[in-house]
This record gives sequence, C-alpha cells and structure tokens, in this order.
Amino acid sequence: MSLSAMIKSGYIFFNADNPAPDSFDWFRDVYGRAADGAFCEVCGDQISDNCQDLNGRCQDHTPDQLSPVLQRLVPLCLSIRTRYLSKLRESQANARSLESGVRTGPTGVRIMECTLFHMKCRLSMELGNELWTNLSQHPKQFSQVCEMEYLTRPFYGYRHWVFVITTSEGDYVFDPTGVQFGPEWPRLRKYDQYMSIHGRDGTPSPLRHPLGYALG
Ligand SMILES: [Zn+2]
Repeated sequence: MSLSAMIKSGYIFFNADNPAPDSFDWFRDVYGRAADGAFCEVCGDQISDNCQDLNGRCQDHTPDQLSPVLQRLVPLCLSIRTRYLSKLRESQANARSLESGVRTGPTGVRIMECTLFHMKCRLSMELGNELWTNLSQHPKQFSQVCEMEYLTRPFYGYRHWVFVITTSEGDYVFDPTGVQFGPEWPRLRKYDQYMSIHGRDGTPSPLRHPLGYALG
C-alpha cells in the first residue's frame, strides 16, 4: 500500500494538530511495509499478507518448535524488548503526538513500533545488563553477550547497534530496535543469517564491544 493510499484509507493522518514528524521521509518506506501484512515476532519473516493480522510466529518459531536455547532466549528477548518499547512510549512526547495521528489496529501497532524505535539502537544497549544477568544463570547454554555496531544494507551509512549472544547452538543477534528500518526486521536471528540479509557488503567489519561500551 502506498503512503498516499494509507493516508486516504485512514491509517495515518496528519494535520495542524498532528504534524508529520521531521524525519517523515525516513518513515515513508517503513509505513508502506507495515501495511503489507503480519510478520514473525522472532525472525521477521512475513507470515500473512493481510494488514489486519497482528504479528505472530512463523512455523519455525512457534513455542513447540523452539530449540532448547531458543526456548530460553525467545521469551527473554521479547519481554525485555516489549518493556523497553513501553518505556519509550511513556517518555517520547513526539511519539505520543504521532500516536494520536495513527489509527489503532495491527498496522497502527507496527507503525508505532517503527516510530518509537527510530534512532534508539545505541540507547537500547542499556538493556545489556538485564540480558546478561538472566543468561549468565545458564552458563552451559550462554557464554557471552556483546554489543555490536555495523553498517546496515538499507539506509547506507547508518551505524546500527545490536547484541550478539554466544550460545551452545551458535551466535544469535538480538536486535531490539531493528524494526525502525521496517516491520520485517528480526528481533532475534542466527548471526550468519542476520548479517547476510541486513549487513552491508564491502564496508568495515562489524565491531564487537563489551557490554556497557555504547553508553560509555
Ligand atoms: Zn520466525
């Protein structure tokens, strides 16, 4: 659905009381994809082409399909992320003003997440302590969490921040704020899959840092 079609159909409306955000161009693309359908809340794969459907889980990520590591990792990462989203929602005045201009419903929810997480990736590294406090209780499954900065494939030059979690089943990326680039971005995905889709070729290697680095 195009942006103008979304405005016409009432998903978004802007007027003097609900002005478009300064970074409106950034969201043009994101808004359109929020109406493409529903997405897996773990890997970001599209699971429906009906914009009225809420995000859910793809077949690989239903609770009974999860590996032992993911049985711990998925609920923990999603709950940490959801609480961070609530905190941003409380604290961002511009988001509240935008919220009053976005219709509720599944597409509105997706747009709201994209908006709230805009430019919040570095700040979201504050979640590292809680993440590691939980995971370090299971040392056979989880051996390390670090912060990683890298250049994204879309929006060339954008330096994005995520967590890399070293597990007994390989490395995973936990990307709390990736949906700022679109609703199809994963929250949690195997490192190699994640970087092959979202990392940009031919740029300096992703940089890994210890927890606490991004916020100094
Ligand atoms: Zn999935």
